[in-house]
Amino acid sequence: MKFATKAIHAGQEPDPTTGAIMTPVYQTSTYVQESPGSHKGYAYARGKNPTRNALEKCIAELENAKHGICFSSGMGAIDAVAKLLRPGDEVITGDDLYGGTYRMFTKVYENFGIKFHFIDLTNPENIKKTITANTKLIWIETPTNPMMNIVDIAACSKIAKEHKLLLAVDNTFASPFLQNPINFGADIVMHSVTKYLGGHSDVIMGALCVNDDKLYEQLFFILNSCGANPGPMDCFLVLRGIKTLHIRMERHCFNGKKIAEYLRTHPKIEKVNWPGFTDHPGHAIAKKQMKDFGGMISFSLKGNKLEDAFKIASSMKVFSLAESLGGVESLIGHPASMTHASIPKAEREKAGVVDSLLRLSVGIEDIDDLLEDLKTALS
Ligand SMILES: *Cc1c(COP(=O)(O)O)cnc(C)c1O
Repeated sequence: MKFATKAIHAGQEPDPTTGAIMTPVYQTSTYVQESPGSHKGYAYARGKNPTRNALEKCIAELENAKHGICFSSGMGAIDAVAKLLRPGDEVITGDDLYGGTYRMFTKVYENFGIKFHFIDLTNPENIKKTITANTKLIWIETPTNPMMNIVDIAACSKIAKEHKLLLAVDNTFASPFLQNPINFGADIVMHSVTKYLGGHSDVIMGALCVNDDKLYEQLFFILNSCGANPGPMDCFLVLRGIKTLHIRMERHCFNGKKIAEYLRTHPKIEKVNWPGFTDHPGHAIAKKQMKDFGGMISFSLKGNKLEDAFKIASSMKVFSLAESLGGVESLIGHPASMTHASIPKAEREKAGVVDSLLRLSVGIEDIDDLLEDLKTALS
């Protein structure tokens, strides 16, 4: 099946008792057994829930993966991957990671004796120099947040396979509509479902997709043992949200392109980061591994003044000043004081997150209103 059909139907059958076309919200904690242990997989809802299972199948199919597992948040999903590691293990990851991932790695898992190397992954050759006998995992994001750098998934996968390492890709920014890392050799695909998959800014959720049966068993064991499972109502909302993922993404891409092009001509703007520009350093790789370039854009201001960025961020009318991304509504954020506040200043600036950097999550409103809003805020 093609993407749009999978988005609407994958994992979902009419309800066997009533024919209800929408998967019911199985709001239950437990399941009645006829005799002890006679259940068919459904014993207790921390382990399995039919509404969640429908969503897991749907997301897995969208990622061309065999298995999907949903978690109570994106961080819950990343936490499950980190729990595959042991003290002494090493992880190689990017130097412009999602702030929450950086915080978890450095403030939680370093305490458990796991070592993280934050390196520039736009050149995957850098990975080779960092690999030791203890390296177990390569964790990448592409496009990155908020600099919109592109990491070559196939090149990372080649190195991972040569050294028998796991490659995990945080695919939140692209969504499965734009990019399927498994097609390029990734072992684990992670989503903050909160963002494009949910799409309506009403749910916090995460997901992992894998092909390998053993890896799935390990991750499912962690979910069931540690308990970061999402509730069935949230799963229902995401199943509903995904039904329009392809249509939403087309509009995010259309609006994103118009806005990136507009910003680039604006005299007050220093630099616009968007992988659709032919002179973006990762453009060729983006073109190879992505279907289109998405609606995430960041830009810095001439003079690089914090006050100027604050003024713009607080004066928008259609764009809302908020953390998060990927919803139908347009958002503006100031990474240095919001999503990246937990990263030391010197470190974030090295990665390009300067004081005047603003990040847009371009929504699916009318493009004329979005452009007008930016024009007024920048005047
Ligand atoms: C939001 C986000 C996360 C964390 O997901 P939550 O659902 O907020 O826990 C991880 N990675 C990226 C790229 C994100 O944007």
